[in-house]
Amino acid sequence: MATLEIHDLHVSVEAESGPREILRGVDLTVKQGETHAIMGPNGSGKSTLAYSLAGHPKYQVTGGTVTLDGEDVLAMSVDERARAGVFLAMQYPVEVPGVSVSNFLRTSATAVRGEAPKLRTWVKEVKEAMEALQMDPSFAERNVNEGFSGGEKKRHEILQLELLKPKIAILDETDSGLDVDALRVVSEGVNRVRESGEVGTLLITHYTRILRYIKPDHVHVFAKGRIVESGGAELADKLEEEGYAAYVEGGASE
Ligand code: ADP
Ligand code: MG
Ligand code: MG
Repeated sequence: MATLEIHDLHVSVEAESGPREILRGVDLTVKQGETHAIMGPNGSGKSTLAYSLAGHPKYQVTGGTVTLDGEDVLAMSVDERARAGVFLAMQYPVEVPGVSVSNFLRTSATAVRGEAPKLRTWVKEVKEAMEALQMDPSFAERNVNEGFSGGEKKRHEILQLELLKPKIAILDETDSGLDVDALRVVSEGVNRVRESGEVGTLLITHYTRILRYIKPDHVHVFAKGRIVESGGAELADKLEEEGYAAYVEGGASE
């Protein structure tokens, strides 16, 4: 049973005025099979947490530990983290000019699995996953995220999730910019992966909307760079009614 353990994580970014601490002591344990919603106001550091776990070089870890089954994740390169089973669906997926979705997925799968997937089964796997996400087959020949709509970008992230089958999936605002139909399709994809029981999910979101489709086991309020409250699904209902004002200095809520 894979377990991701984050202990007292501190992370800074280099700002013009010098290093600025964004994460201020994050503690969180995510086990395979569990879904944790991380909810918080804009600018609280949710994406910084996601990037830090994936190993983005801009984010400097200044304290704390992150382990996956006892292995030091912070000592791993971005590739090693992916191979170890850490997957990040980015809030703002980046364009990869000149690389088709099809090639990108196969290269990623090869890197994560340690060997190239057998072509025949792979083609079938991709086709089925795309159908399930209601994606047109021609999508596979487009360049990664080039000219993708918001919904297409998010579907593409979930397509990767379905094909790469990580141990820990970090989904950063996968709900943002989706209309209701796309939200449902994307949520169903996440739920298919969850139902395998083999993935621990960190569902980062600003809004409670996606939690109607994806039921979290645990809900955490994230404010000012740390988890300030944890509870069950009922905590999300409270947030829906009251917003984040109680957690933000001066009462301002976004
Ligand atoms: P959230 O995802 O909760 O909206 P972010 O992690 O994106 O929050 O940002 C948290 C804070 O860190 C913000 O004040 C943001 O401006 C700052 N920040 C994030 N990334 C960088 C960066 N690469 N350089 C400078 N500041 C950053
Ligand atoms: Mg934000
Ligand atoms: Mg963010």
